[in-house]
Amino acid sequence: MMQKNEIVKVKIEDIGVGGEGIGKVDGYTLFIKDAIIGDVVEAKVMKAKKNYGYARLMNVLTPSKDRVEEPVCPMARKCGGCQIQEMKYPAQLAFKESKVRGNLERIGEVPGELLDQIMHPAVGMDGEGMQPMKWIDDWPVIGTDKDGRVIAGFYAGRTHSIIENTDCALGVEVNEEILNCILDFMEEFKIPAYDEVKHKGLVRHVLLRYGFKTDEIMVCLVINGKTIPHCHDLVGRLRQIPGMTSITLSTNTAKTNVIMGDTIRLLWGQEFITDYIGEIKYQISPLSFYQVNPVQTEKLYGLALDYAGLTGNEAVWDLYCGIGTISLFLAKKAKQVYGVEIVPQAIDDAKNNAKINDITNAEFYVGKAEEVLPEYYKEYEKTHNGETAHADVIVVDPPRKGCEESLLQTIVDMQPEKVVYVSCDSATLARDVKFLRANGYELKDVTPVDQFPHTVHVEVVCCLHRVNS
Ligand code: SAH
Repeated sequence: MMQKNEIVKVKIEDIGVGGEGIGKVDGYTLFIKDAIIGDVVEAKVMKAKKNYGYARLMNVLTPSKDRVEEPVCPMARKCGGCQIQEMKYPAQLAFKESKVRGNLERIGEVPGELLDQIMHPAVGMDGEGMQPMKWIDDWPVIGTDKDGRVIAGFYAGRTHSIIENTDCALGVEVNEEILNCILDFMEEFKIPAYDEVKHKGLVRHVLLRYGFKTDEIMVCLVINGKTIPHCHDLVGRLRQIPGMTSITLSTNTAKTNVIMGDTIRLLWGQEFITDYIGEIKYQISPLSFYQVNPVQTEKLYGLALDYAGLTGNEAVWDLYCGIGTISLFLAKKAKQVYGVEIVPQAIDDAKNNAKINDITNAEFYVGKAEEVLPEYYKEYEKTHNGETAHADVIVVDPPRKGCEESLLQTIVDMQPEKVVYVSCDSATLARDVKFLRANGYELKDVTPVDQFPHTVHVEVVCCLHRVNS
């Protein structure tokens, strides 16, 4: 067993699910954040348990061949947004592939020999993955530093202390100008930042969205209140920024980790921005989910479309459809598409997006996928003399917690030829794949798509085919 504060020399031999390096000293396992496979490092033991401990990286004695000389962002180690910026991009992709494969094997119980045949290499970004990206799950948080100055930044890894940074390397360039504009305004008019411990103060977060094909900009301030004093002045400044299209407020007065409030108030411009993925035009409002990485999203949806293998005659369900992104991608090649999504504003966007693209064969329903689809199935049976509802292809793209078993059961009951599963959490994907494989479906293709370079997160698209009995 190790002692706290002990300094040790370790060779890193493995990587944990959170991207931390793993090495052994005399059989004792140490987890070391920011150390990567192949490094020999000097580390200080911070926490020592009986069989394993956590250590802090002090010095890289011999760098791994996969280590970059200098991470692009000087905040990389402190900030919780990125976890593996020290790794060269091909090594990041290899890590993500093995993470997906590991989960499918262990949790999904998919045989290794099958995975050898059906797993495709991760689809990465071109270059080093440093192209600008929109941040959605890590919207800048507004806070106050020790000297009482308002600051913008991101939460540190494990804690909610704010790492000041208006120039996140993963965000688009204009974000910095917008954030500085907001901070200057707050400083000048003494507008307080929100303090989550005291549950006091006003400005909590800033949601920034950028249309990569249209250059339209959206700013939504999330506030602990109904209005911002001198709001007219703020709008006057923000609207000078070229491309500014939508300035809104969202009220969130709850003591919660949830970022957005339930409502949106328009301050200036319109409530949405427009962007394209492929040929399809999307209007996106602040409360709707939108994929964070537009370059990769096009590749992701392209694969989903490939896997669906549509010929024009199919009835397709797109569950967890958001603003109808995948639904509309599929609609052009299918007979009829049905989308289901829990956020009403997203469904409004979806319907509208169908309209502006002249797509008439897509229908959208608000509700939980695990309620809407089973109810549809039951209702159909009742009204069709016991005949059961059928789908040719069912696409699911659930949040991290994956699909409820009741939903998977209805999917199985509807006997689609194909299930296309888009997942942002390969552990829950593996759990759901296990259910589907046990109920008449076989896994056919699995492709990780890197939507989130420099983080440990990985998106996967896979397809399952019905096994004919
Ligand atoms: N396919 C879309 C959205 C995927 S994100 C896209 O690629 O843009 C997952 C979506 O599921 C979010 O829009 C979220 O609001 C929605 N959601 C979460 N829980 C849900 C549930 N139980 N039923 C239906 N939709 C849900």
